[in-house]
Parts: sequence; structure tokens; C-alpha cells
Amino acid sequence: MKVVVLLGPPGSGKGTVAERLRGDRGGYVHFATGDMLREEVAHGTEVGREAEDYMKRGELVPDEVIIRIVEKRLETGDQEAAYLFDGFPRTLAQADLLDESLAGRGSKIDFVFFLATPREVILQRLTGRRVCKDCGASFHVINIPPKVEGVCDACGGELYQRKDDNEETIANRLDVYNRQTESLISRYEEKGLLVSLDSDQGVDSLMAEIEAKLQSASA
Ligand code: ADP
Ligand code: ZN
Repeated sequence: MKVVVLLGPPGSGKGTVAERLRGDRGGYVHFATGDMLREEVAHGTEVGREAEDYMKRGELVPDEVIIRIVEKRLETGDQEAAYLFDGFPRTLAQADLLDESLAGRGSKIDFVFFLATPREVILQRLTGRRVCKDCGASFHVINIPPKVEGVCDACGGELYQRKDDNEETIANRLDVYNRQTESLISRYEEKGLLVSLDSDQGVDSLMAEIEAKLQSASA
């Protein structure tokens, strides 16, 4: 089983890379804690109620809440599947949990793709982002406009702007990333797992770099 972690600031394109990898290769389980949390909020579950305020402010949801949803999902997950972790881990405690949990299944992280992204690119991407209510596909008012304004190309669903995609909350998310998540870069570098990529290039050339790495490992 292959285990890939996508690491990078908000707006670095982790979700886009995950979508592309799933489409191109298949077989990956996309494990996105942000999406899982938004689903819990939408369904008004206990986890959702605990997480909602943190998410609105752009703060991290406490580790114990994350650990609960992650363990639940890994238990029900396919043991044989390849995993793509997106937006998780975000703290050292979460990184420890992931290592332990994988070790318990006789597995480990194969690659950590770090998507380095300049701040002005992040701001431009996030303030213009629009997401489909029904299928989760991502668009951008300028970079990736849908064919019909406000309507998803893939499924015809309604596009909306995430509550945390406003300038003030984005600035806070970036601070939180710098304070709590950036230190994971050196952790994975020391373990020899880190692959640093420039996320400010076309998606196709970014994917070509990622594919080359993945293939070098399976050769
Ligand atoms: P982005 O990477 O663009 O910030 P996400 O969808 O990954 O978007 O996360 C949205 C919000 O969900 C975060 O700001 C945070 O509040 C919460 N969240 C997601 N994943 C985690 C995590 N692993 N640990 C703590 N909070 C998380
Ligand atoms: Zn859609």
C-alpha cells in the first residue's frame, strides 16, 4: 500500500493535486480532514459542533477531535488501499498519531509532497475560489472560471464561497500554518521523505513531477 502526504499552506493546491492523482491513477483513498470536518458541520454532528467555531476563525480544530475522526475513518478504511492525506497531519501530535497508526498496519509514509507557494499566490487563489455544494469541485473566478457563472461544470451544482475564504480569515490561517504546521517540513526532511515542489507552476507540469517521483519508487 502506498501512503502519500500532501503538505503545504492553505491554497497551495493540495486538493487539486489529490483530485488529479485520483483521476490519473485510481485506487487512492482521498483522506482530507477539512472535507471530513465540513461534512460533520453540515450534518450538525457532535464533532461538527465542536469544530465549527475553530474553522470559522481559521484556527486548528483541537487534536483530540481530529484524532477521533481520523481513527474512525482509518478503522473503516480499506486495509489494502493507497492513501492520500490532504490537510493532515497539521501538528506534531497528529504526525505521531499517523506514524503509529500506519505502523500498526505494517505500513508507513512513502512520500511527503511539499507544495511551496508564495503568499501573494495563496491570497489570489483563496479569495477567488468557488466550490461546488454538491460534488466539491473547485473553481476560481479568474484562473479556472466555470462555463456558466455560479454553476459547477462537472455536475451542475451551485458554487459557493467557503466561509473561511475571506481576507481576514485567510491571514489567520496562514499565521496558524506558520506557527503550527510548518515545523512538519523539517520532520519529514530529516526522515528523508520530503519532496519539495514549486506549486506556482501549471498543474500539468506539477503533476508530471509528482508522477515521476511515484514511478521512480515503484520501478
Ligand atoms: P485549507 O488547507 O485551505 O486551510 P482545509 O479544508 O484543509 O483547508 O481546512 C479547513 C479548516 O479545517 C482549517 O482551517 C481547520 O480549522 C480545520 N482542519 C482541517 N484539517 C485539520 C487538522 N488536521 N487539524 C486541525 N484542524 C483541521
Ligand atoms: Zn459539482
